[in-house]
Amino acid sequence: MKVSIIAVGTELLFGQTVNTNATYLSENLNHMGFDVMYHFVVGDNPQRLKEKLADAFSDTDIVLLTGGLGPTQDDLTKEMVAEYMGVEMYLDQRVVDDLRDFFRKRGGNMAENNFKQAYLPVGCTPLYNASGTAPGFALSRNGKTAICFPGPPRELKWLWEHGARQYLEQLTDKKMYYRIIRTIGIGESDLEMLLMPLIDGQSDPTIATYAKEGECTLRVASQRKDSDDARKACDEMMARIMELAGKYIYSTDDEDLNEVVVRMLKDKGVLISSAESCTGGGFASSITDIAGASSVLHSSYVTYSIDAKVKLGVPEDIISEYGVVSRETAVSMAEALKNVSGADLCISITGYAGPEADPGHDAGEAFIGYVYKNHKAAVRVLTNRNDRRWNRNYFILRMMRAVYMLLSDRADEIE
Ligand code: AMP
Ligand code: MG
Repeated sequence: MKVSIIAVGTELLFGQTVNTNATYLSENLNHMGFDVMYHFVVGDNPQRLKEKLADAFSDTDIVLLTGGLGPTQDDLTKEMVAEYMGVEMYLDQRVVDDLRDFFRKRGGNMAENNFKQAYLPVGCTPLYNASGTAPGFALSRNGKTAICFPGPPRELKWLWEHGARQYLEQLTDKKMYYRIIRTIGIGESDLEMLLMPLIDGQSDPTIATYAKEGECTLRVASQRKDSDDARKACDEMMARIMELAGKYIYSTDDEDLNEVVVRMLKDKGVLISSAESCTGGGFASSITDIAGASSVLHSSYVTYSIDAKVKLGVPEDIISEYGVVSRETAVSMAEALKNVSGADLCISITGYAGPEADPGHDAGEAFIGYVYKNHKAAVRVLTNRNDRRWNRNYFILRMMRAVYMLLSDRADEIE
């Protein structure tokens, strides 16, 4: 079923408020198997809202509206929807009571204009709002459905969970099941080529690829009348994807790489430590983002200056002979770290995050060193970018990937 979303509010057009409501609703609708066809944004203007309603309903059966349900004069979404659907408004006694209660508890009198919020279109299903004062509602007439939500995202989410989602579920006889697969070490276009035999001519399950910073995500989705059928169809497709691209897949449950790495460290009882230069402790920070990090992270040293690297135990002549950003220095940092920390897996990084680099070097060049079991080496990473933030995030991802490969007994694939 096709859906449009209309966000109402002049502040959205001014760029003062980001239209997060549309993102939230789209994501949820998509998961339920609805096809979101349009996002509209319109200011607090009755005429233009009416035109957009007509536009939206000309091509979609369901229109979700957010904003403009409040008590003030410029809040007119409800009235316009009722007019478009050809129904009158009525005073909803429960909303009146709720409002009186709300103001009594706060010890204040209710301003007269608050009653405006208690009017709803005749024949609607009210969505009573326990997280704010303005109720939402769903209204179906002649095969068309409008659902109105208040603008504040917290209230919108509450009404979504408490009524709107359930109302929409009744409108569709299809069930959606999907899985998010996370990959690393392969670009979006290469991944698509690899999976072309499956993607070509797909109808259900569908496979979609999304590129994120430094990695690529796959979404496998199936819509069936029966949710078990949808799940089975996805599972079968997943097995075929595994055959073709399994070595790039690190999660079939939409986990971040650091979550997977922390879990592996825990399962294997491996203690990790890092010595970081250009990432400034970002690698250790990504590990400590995950609950339970305390049982796997031994220590982290931010050895930014040459002096700090020497104090960690890197021989001065290695730095003077090979340079501070070099394979040899990276390995030596990991070795020194091993001596100091005694952790099972020691990982290091030295590089240029950019935008500047020393003469003869490129911004975005780094060496990642590691010592683990009988593995002791370093790899060179070159991003060809001078975007400092991007480079640092990417370096951290590559360190995480190196650890993942070491823990997976795939050290030869570290790159
Ligand atoms: P309203 O219901 O139109 O009075 O909106 C109340 C408040 O909700 C606005 O001032 C915004 O801060 C917020 N808001 C309204 N529309 C949106 C939207 N589409 N996305 C995110 N926040 C919104
Ligand atoms: Mg508004």
